[in-house]
Amino acid sequence: AAWEREVRRSATPRRNGGLSVLVTGAAGFVGAHCSVALHARGDGVVGLDNFNAYYDVSLKRARSRLLLSSRGVVVLDADINDGALLERLFAAVPFTHVLHLAAQAGVRYAMKAPQAYVASNVAGLVGVFEAAARHADPQPAIVWASSSSVYGLNGETPFSEDHRTDRPASLYAATKKAGEAIAHAYNHIYGLSITGLRFFTVYGPWGRPDMAYFSFARAIVSGEPITLFADARRDFTYIDDVARGCLGALDTAGKSTGSKSGKKSGPAPLRVYNLGNTSPVAVTRMVAILEKLLGKKAHKRVVTMPSNGDVPFTHANVSHAARDFGYRPTTSLDVGLRHFVEWFVKYYKLDDIKSGSSNVLLAAGKTT
Ligand code: NAD
Repeated sequence: AAWEREVRRSATPRRNGGLSVLVTGAAGFVGAHCSVALHARGDGVVGLDNFNAYYDVSLKRARSRLLLSSRGVVVLDADINDGALLERLFAAVPFTHVLHLAAQAGVRYAMKAPQAYVASNVAGLVGVFEAAARHADPQPAIVWASSSSVYGLNGETPFSEDHRTDRPASLYAATKKAGEAIAHAYNHIYGLSITGLRFFTVYGPWGRPDMAYFSFARAIVSGEPITLFADARRDFTYIDDVARGCLGALDTAGKSTGSKSGKKSGPAPLRVYNLGNTSPVAVTRMVAILEKLLGKKAHKRVVTMPSNGDVPFTHANVSHAARDFGYRPTTSLDVGLRHFVEWFVKYYKLDDIKSGSSNVLLAAGKTT
């Protein structure tokens, strides 16, 4: 079929020994950047995304069109809960890897739509593991996005992978923690190679409008007040550093180790890594950098942090990722936010920030 031909073409690497990667959540922030980076080094990429309306769908469409389709990367409009589609996809294409990033992200929205988290982060994750373990031959190695939020109310910092993760502070964190347990089961039963990546507050161009740095930039431009949590500190991690980490993890995840036709070469790996920046910054300082870059003051309201699922402090120890695939974050928050603001001003056509009027920007502000 024409569909299968297009998908196979997109999945075919353009270099010797290149990977063939299915990227779920490819129209998302991290997924779009990773797909571009994989394609740029000659790997084959097929994207998949359901383009849901959790935040501005036109931004997802723009990432998909301008960053991926324009480079010849196919992005399927599909849901990870569509088992028949995944089965057909794995039958059509011998993917070497799956980069599974599709999920319901965001900590606070869980209080509005708890079932969305269960559907994508638990049922959907099982759908992807199930299809890769049982319907792909050979099995692809899986790299998927867990989250630093699994450390929850753990007081010990910096966070290391062996710290306790049994006290999630939000349903979002609980579904990521559940995902890590599900990964263990699929690795154990089916010999699926699975690597979980715990991302720490990823930011940058083409970012997520629901995240603080983005919504604060929007509020500063449009003159709306912002609410800051006193004492909150985050290990803000620049998107290019995270994308490099994802590619490194894919490279070490290796070729398939099991196959349903029986041959196995040793136990398949099950791994988990922090991908952070290793230098937490106060959220108040993040706002000060944005004010400087935008040339406009924020109307700030500083309150104590309510129990809405946020944790006060995150800080990654990345020594395991450094040891196993040379991960080394190199972008400071000042530099990374400068790249973000340059993109933001251009994308939303904010020629005159001081006047603050941009209909495109105001429309983008409407997140679910
Ligand atoms: P994002 O929301 O921009 O990307 C996720 C994409 O997945 C979206 O485009 C969405 O449409 C798609 N999607 C959601 N449910 C789907 C489904 N059922 N079927 C198909 N597609 C679906 O978020 P992001 O910031 O790019 O995050 C990527 C991954 O990293 C997520 O798993 C997220 O939980 C995790 N993560 C992100 C951060 C961060 O700071 N950005 C931090 C920790 C973990």
